[in-house]
Amino acid sequence: MMAQYLAIKRLHPDCLLFYRMGDFYELFFDDAVRASAALDIALTKRGKHLGEDIAMCGVPVRAYEAYLAKLVRQGFKVAIGEQMEDPAEARKRGSKSVVARDVVRVITAGTLTEDTLLDARSHNYLAAVAEAQGALGLAWVDVSTGEFAMQALSAKTLSAALARLSPGELLVGDRLLGTESLSETWAEWKSILSPLPSARFDSENARRRLEALYGVGSLDGFGAFSRPELAAGGALVDYVELTQKGRLPRLSPPRHLAEGAVMEIDAATRRNLELAETLTGERRGSLLAVMDRTVTGAGARLLAARLAAPLTDPAAIDHRLDMVAFMVEQDGTCDSLREALKRCPDVERALSRLSLGRGGPRDLANVRDALAEVPNLRNLVAAPMLDTPPGLAGCVRDLGEHSALVDRLTRALAPDLPLNARDGGFIAEGYHPALDETKALRGESHAVLMRLERRYAEETGVTALKIRHNNIIGHHIEVPARQADKLGDGFIHRQTMASSARYTTSELIELAGRITGAADRALALEQELFAELVGEVTARAADIARTAGALAELDVSTALAHLARSQRWTRPQIDGGTGFDIKGGRHPVVEAALTAAHAGAFVANDCDLSDSQRLWLITGPNMAGKSTFLRQNALMAVLAQMGSFVPADSARIGVVDRLFSRVGAADDLARGRSTFMVEMVETAAILNQSGPRALVILDEIGRGTATFDGLSIAWAVVEHLHEVNRCRALFATHYHELTRLSAKLASLSCHMMKVKEWQGDVVFLHEVGAGAADRSYGIHVARLAGLPPAVVARAEEVLTILEKSDQASDMAKLADDLPLFAAMAPRPKAAPAAARPAAVEEALKGVNPDDLSARQALDLVYELKRLLG
Ligand code: ATP
Repeated sequence: MMAQYLAIKRLHPDCLLFYRMGDFYELFFDDAVRASAALDIALTKRGKHLGEDIAMCGVPVRAYEAYLAKLVRQGFKVAIGEQMEDPAEARKRGSKSVVARDVVRVITAGTLTEDTLLDARSHNYLAAVAEAQGALGLAWVDVSTGEFAMQALSAKTLSAALARLSPGELLVGDRLLGTESLSETWAEWKSILSPLPSARFDSENARRRLEALYGVGSLDGFGAFSRPELAAGGALVDYVELTQKGRLPRLSPPRHLAEGAVMEIDAATRRNLELAETLTGERRGSLLAVMDRTVTGAGARLLAARLAAPLTDPAAIDHRLDMVAFMVEQDGTCDSLREALKRCPDVERALSRLSLGRGGPRDLANVRDALAEVPNLRNLVAAPMLDTPPGLAGCVRDLGEHSALVDRLTRALAPDLPLNARDGGFIAEGYHPALDETKALRGESHAVLMRLERRYAEETGVTALKIRHNNIIGHHIEVPARQADKLGDGFIHRQTMASSARYTTSELIELAGRITGAADRALALEQELFAELVGEVTARAADIARTAGALAELDVSTALAHLARSQRWTRPQIDGGTGFDIKGGRHPVVEAALTAAHAGAFVANDCDLSDSQRLWLITGPNMAGKSTFLRQNALMAVLAQMGSFVPADSARIGVVDRLFSRVGAADDLARGRSTFMVEMVETAAILNQSGPRALVILDEIGRGTATFDGLSIAWAVVEHLHEVNRCRALFATHYHELTRLSAKLASLSCHMMKVKEWQGDVVFLHEVGAGAADRSYGIHVARLAGLPPAVVARAEEVLTILEKSDQASDMAKLADDLPLFAAMAPRPKAAPAAARPAAVEEALKGVNPDDLSARQALDLVYELKRLLG
């Protein structure tokens, strides 16, 4: 057995091997040591190998998924080594022969399909990155739903794309892993990296592989995929097949995500804006959690995917907004649709399990129940007979027609379903006459058994005589031990227990045989019927997947409409310009928190970043609401472009292609970066990457260093944003000196958070107004926070002294005198001089060295020296 174990383990060195032994999966050697620590289960030993004890631990097969979930979450891969034959079969080969075993599946974080291992409301992507001809390709698949897509990208945009997907597992070739320029990215995703040999990322093989998978002569019909995209996609499909041991789930045709099709948002910005999770990594308190009103798992996943990838094409955004607007207007229809959608189980995931041969009767029921809602949903959408938007018409088309399948599944499936098909008992009565007959026979035999028991009791006079069944000796007659002598000759002794004795008779043996035979036949028949039903579902997989897509889309549109109605959100106007005009904007998460805490109403604020004032400098006291205001405007762009209504009275937004936010202070000690270093790295990314269509949110740049260093950096950053990046930006600061820049920078506009001083106290109005604040009221906030009164009083003294000193006015004067961009090279109007050929180069161009005599060559050198001046 150990030889067999070692042979299997050798083929899966990177996995923990779950080695099936009866009712347990056992782990041996180092696997056992690691798994027992990870699972907190007992480590034992069994036998010896090369003179050493063999470490062992095990998990019961019945409950193994819970253990699996723990291991996968900790980054382990698990190979499931099953018994491939009945132990009785093995015994036929001789008493010492080992039951045949093989790995039936490798479980990794990116290839899960079980509901118990997955979050119903989140995608679980397996992603792959490949490189070819200096360009990169990213492919991703959700094995649990069959979604498959690819995207071409560059080293610069990879990190943001990965942040958007947030995959559960990432495949990278070992050569690419060694690329110096990408080392930061790999470090960021270290915990989910699965390195593969580079040879697996061959674009030509991949193309052939994908063409064969989809049965097409060319992939062009699906999109124009680049070589690195194909290489990534091919490696991905190979890996899935490898882990599923030759089986592939149903995969949708690959979608091509065009360059620039989605708003680029890097990981830091996502974190800062708390889009899908808060800074502490929780879903609660994030924008997604506050806005998610979906009623199905697939709808929740689609909503999260849309929030992660806002669009950049105004027409595509309007297409989505039209659907939401329709549902807002038709509120009755919207509510009825949501009621119907609530009854739709997760058909995407059920379909994926069925296509992998891993589904059960309940998956069939899920397919049936979701598809059964289709006629109702279609009637609801078609009922108003109004101007239905094209997106909705598309949904109606995709809902399709499944009545025959629904009817079949309804007739076939019993009301109560077991989890696994192998348990039997899931086919409804009346569906299959032969099955009903066999079951009747089984039922009849039971009645015969009862009659037999009664007869034996009467004949022997042992009233306590019972016919029982157990797994070891099967059917038997049991009597109290002291009455055993009352049994006649026909009773054959089987076992004597402490207080009873067990017998059988030839009659019972014959009857038991009939019962077991009928049960086996019924079970076998049910398995056949199950396979047939699964075959029918998978044959229609593409249609069912389209229906599932339509259900998810309806869920998202109605959920967003419900949100818009209940929270008074409005439809944004999106265009291709660079305007940004929000009237009465609110921060959805802060507003929800205030409402929940009955802490008063949120104060709405306007924000107009039109070209003449595209850079807002916002000053104001601590706690006055600067960060809230900054973030709410960034969220406004994200919400609008994902196709949602927005929390504002009105919003007009020119499409934002990149969103940057640098808010708050956080260090990244794991990567050896201090708070200030993180701040500077993020600021550098913003200044290096934002163009005229970007939207930048900067909160308190330069706070983590000495005052003058910080002010100088903030000063230069504002100038650069205004003159070079020329993007829309909101810049909050406590450096009030910066407001002087408004005199010099035409598109810089100063705004402040209003406060009222009242009886020596400060009241925050949370209102944004024109102008610049002159104080930060930091000491006031310190007092509110509970700093000891002595410290507060002393701080007030120090502040008074500092304010009187010349230092502040000196600094302001210096700021006034400082010529703008003194250190910045003027932006060249024509091509820079270096790009024009020099006179020396011109002179050399006409010369053919082979035609020159030694004398002429020397003259040429003199001439070139002269030209150099
Ligand atoms: P600091 O300079 O100390 O970072 P800040 O000016 O950035 O402060 P915020 O963190 O944005 O202040 O806001 C502080 C608190 O004020 C919020 O948590 C919220 O409770 C409240 N608040 C902010 N904006 C508003 C608003 N528009 N209406 C009502 N309450 C608000």
